[in-house]
Amino acid sequence: MQGEFLMDLKNAIHECWGKIDEGHVATYIPALANVNPYQLGVCLFDVTTDRKEQAGASQVRFAIESVSKVIALLYAIDQLGLKAVSSQVGTRQTGFPFDTILNMEITGESRPLNPFVNSGAILISSLIEERDGQSPFERILAFSRKICNDPGITLDHEIYRSELATGDRNRSLAYYLKARGSLSNDVTTSLDTYFRQCSMMVTCESLTNLGAVLANDGVAPWNGERLISSQAATYTKSVMMTTGLYTESGTYSVQIGVPTKSGVGGGLVAAAPSHCGIGIFSPALNPVGNSVAGLALLEMISRELKLDIFKY
Ligand code: GLU
Repeated sequence: MQGEFLMDLKNAIHECWGKIDEGHVATYIPALANVNPYQLGVCLFDVTTDRKEQAGASQVRFAIESVSKVIALLYAIDQLGLKAVSSQVGTRQTGFPFDTILNMEITGESRPLNPFVNSGAILISSLIEERDGQSPFERILAFSRKICNDPGITLDHEIYRSELATGDRNRSLAYYLKARGSLSNDVTTSLDTYFRQCSMMVTCESLTNLGAVLANDGVAPWNGERLISSQAATYTKSVMMTTGLYTESGTYSVQIGVPTKSGVGGGLVAAAPSHCGIGIFSPALNPVGNSVAGLALLEMISRELKLDIFKY
């Protein structure tokens, strides 16, 4: 399989390994502080050939955290339509950290600025209602398993408890949204859905499959089923490009040029349109919250496979 396919991923991991020492695991969520930083895994899914390749810690389960915001956004668009979702959450960069409280008041926007800051993500989670005896989270979980082609995705109770214990800033955002009349669901349900979706355990392979669906215009390359609309895939990739890597989104748009979303669990999902989906895991983060070795590896992959969408 190697050789004809993409690139020598083992060697790429070897070359990026030293970067781990430049970062630190997230500590503000206590359960994440216990994760071994010395892990780096990658999985690639080439949607033009349906070939998949992985190396390193590609099957290790880790907390999806903010990467879940991509899935929740796609699901909300699928359920309510893009117009209904985009009228409630914008696509602007905040210039502030992901949990900023400074967005709507400062900009005069009536909506959270984008779906990947926590205020926007909590609003998106509030759009999913209970249906057929399934809670909003259970519906997001079922959709996650489908779009990641991974029935093994479950909620980690320790991470969830940690999210609850340290989630006061998110609570304040939810109450702020409620005060503005922006939440569709009640505060408790909206927050619980958000905390739970962040506590789902995924692998590089799950995220690669998610990236591959986005790269393949919404169609699952493993069975040809359309899982999301072409419009939802395009919209979400654009938002990933402009706001997917916290305040470093602009920097990595220039350096990597591939729509990517990160999470403080150390995960990255990237979607190179019409080319491949990529899932990466390495839990040591830079001060902004992005995986240090993970981004170094993604940059190497983008260069080697010529994935930068802005390069001729
Ligand atoms: N659950 C985390 C929080 O809300 C997610 C942060 C992230 O991955 O960006 O703080």
